[in-house]
Amino acid sequence: MLERLAVVSGGGTGIGKAIARELAADGCRVVIVGRRAEVLERAREEIDRAVGAARVVPLKADLTDSHQVSAAAESIAELGPVDVLVNNAGAVITEPADDSLAALADAWRRDLDTNLLTAVLLTTALLDRLRRPDGRLIVISSAAAQRGGAGPHSAGSYAAAKAALHGWAFGLARQLGPDGITVNVLAPGYVADTEIFGERWTPEFHAAKVADTLVGRAGTPDDVAAAVRYLASPAAGYLTGQVIGLNGGAVLGR
Ligand code: NDP
Repeated sequence: MLERLAVVSGGGTGIGKAIARELAADGCRVVIVGRRAEVLERAREEIDRAVGAARVVPLKADLTDSHQVSAAAESIAELGPVDVLVNNAGAVITEPADDSLAALADAWRRDLDTNLLTAVLLTTALLDRLRRPDGRLIVISSAAAQRGGAGPHSAGSYAAAKAALHGWAFGLARQLGPDGITVNVLAPGYVADTEIFGERWTPEFHAAKVADTLVGRAGTPDDVAAAVRYLASPAAGYLTGQVIGLNGGAVLGR
């Protein structure tokens, strides 16, 4: 098979970096998109060294900004049709600054922008560039979309933004299926060793998340990357319009 082109948003850190490494190891050229050039450059060096080939293309863009997304899509278009698009960028936004409705509205807007709009803008900008047939569109959501976010404020908006990705992806699966493009959502449970929790991460937090699972361990970025590798593969051509929970059984509960 000729070298395929993959795009991974948020590919400079955590889960996205593991996905980029996995797709690069699978022979793809991989564009990693994020806001911090130095982080992307470090990831490029690390992944290229790991796979022993120059496969990673760093691309700096804030995916909440439609102008930056348009410019990024133009750069990507120069590399050829996109075989695999992984919408992975996201964040747990900080709590509202105070108890006012204005602060709540601000926090919700930031969560929806970062966890929903990033995927919608990048996908829309690249829609005409997706490989037809055999393109693969993969969306990283969260178990929070299936369980609800624990907390009144930003946890709720994070879960709501991730759940909105599901409905959006179902529509895209209908729209793109006739073109031979599959669209699936991976909803990971707790994945350790990423930047997303920042100062919220504590050993107690970790232990509670592990206790939630049926398998007695946290997920890893490599767990998610392995599932993406399968969804991106030719073998997964009959799988579309699905939300796949990758959570060690945490959504089922004990
Ligand atoms: P990280 O914080 O390590 O990764 C998030 C990535 O998204 C970063 O590389 C960040 O890069 C990028 N990003 C955020 N905002 C933007 C933006 N506006 N434009 C471009 N890139 C952006 O966390 P994870 O690896 O844990 O998270 C990856 C995905 O997995 C997220 O969507 C998250 O919601 C989801 N997830 C994570 C779980 C976990 O337990 N870790 C569980 C379930 C889902 P930069 O800051 O440089 O822009």
